Amino acid sequence: MILGVVADDFTGATDIASMLVAAGLRTVLSIGIPATGEAPAADAVVVALKSRTAPADTAVQESVAAWRWLRAGGARQCYFKYCSTFDSTPAGNIGPVADALLTETGARLTVACPALPVNGRTVYQGYLFVGNRLLSESGMRDHPLTPMTDANIVRVLQAQTQGRVACVSHDVVSAGATAIAARLHALESEGVRFAVCDTISTAELAELAEASADLALVTGGSGLASGLGAAYARRGWLRPDPAAACLDAVDGPAAVLSGSCSLATNAQVRHWLEAGKPAFHIDPVALAAGEPVAAGALEWARGQAAVLIYATASPDAVRATQLALGHNRAGELIEACLADVARGLVADGVRRLVVAGGETSGAVVRALEISQLRIGPVITPGVPWTQVEGRPLHLALKSGNFGGTDFFSEALDE
Ligand code: ADP
Repeated sequence: MILGVVADDFTGATDIASMLVAAGLRTVLSIGIPATGEAPAADAVVVALKSRTAPADTAVQESVAAWRWLRAGGARQCYFKYCSTFDSTPAGNIGPVADALLTETGARLTVACPALPVNGRTVYQGYLFVGNRLLSESGMRDHPLTPMTDANIVRVLQAQTQGRVACVSHDVVSAGATAIAARLHALESEGVRFAVCDTISTAELAELAEASADLALVTGGSGLASGLGAAYARRGWLRPDPAAACLDAVDGPAAVLSGSCSLATNAQVRHWLEAGKPAFHIDPVALAAGEPVAAGALEWARGQAAVLIYATASPDAVRATQLALGHNRAGELIEACLADVARGLVADGVRRLVVAGGETSGAVVRALEISQLRIGPVITPGVPWTQVEGRPLHLALKSGNFGGTDFFSEALDE
């Protein structure tokens, strides 16, 4: 293992894992910190935590534990992955976690590089932009958990750490890796702990990756990872593998399980139904009445090559169900049912499973007792095919709003 990534949420972990695979690193994603066992054989291992909005001391504890496991598995560089919109509050968790990882890795300085120019996240003079707006003028201003009301990342990070924060400005970054490395070195000798790096293009990310590949710790969004493969290759640590995204072939039927009620997923379900493809609707009222809905779905699916089993419904229908059953109970019943269906489908020989919905994916992954996923080809940005480590089962986990209307067919045709 070359790189060990500690990611503060699941979709962020998937995002950086896809980025690393595209950069030629064979990559495995671990869901949480494994209780036991060694790190898998891979160039990069990403540990997906749920620490973004946890209490700061919990986030620190989990992140350090994740890194210790990665280090024991041979990782030579640590990457603390957070959101490209620097989602955090004055209480943390980016500052406290990065502080703890600096201590753990013995590094004196690290970079803070949230930029992801392909998604419109750029940093200039320390200010983070989302498209053509300052972060503080973007939708992130009103985020329910981590409202970002200041776009100045130097100031935002400084409020979260005792260590000194400085900016590597665009004139230095645009001069390339040698200039950046020299500035990082100078800042380190001045006692600076965090260097927020201006970045307005993907080419600059590559220079930043080259300049920071020897640091024991880097921190940032997923963007910086795109340049690390080449930087490691130049150091002779890695021969980038053009087949890094190849998964073992699997043979067997496929199924889509959809518990997301987002606009995008509703359109995807409609698209599947309009094409006349086989679909089974999970009726929440029948579930609440104790009918054997999961067993019925499994019986129906048996012998079919590719099916959709869905609870997805329009906002009005969801409201009506929630009124009738209670908000939490409706969600729990449906998640439990889809989890049972997933278990049954796999037992019946299904080998490729697409799951729509963040919470729904969590329920399915728990039901199937999955702890590690090898990352394969990207279906749509943010959603790769994955293979359950050591099992002939492919999974694509899609959070609500991802994917075009034909996402389900696109995934199954991949
Ligand atoms: P997303 O990623 O779109 O937010 P999630 O799976 O995270 O999707 O959340 C969707 C939630 O809605 C789940 O708890 C799911 O069980 C619930 N749900 C699905 N279908 C219905 C429905 N018809 N009525 C009420 N709740 C539903």
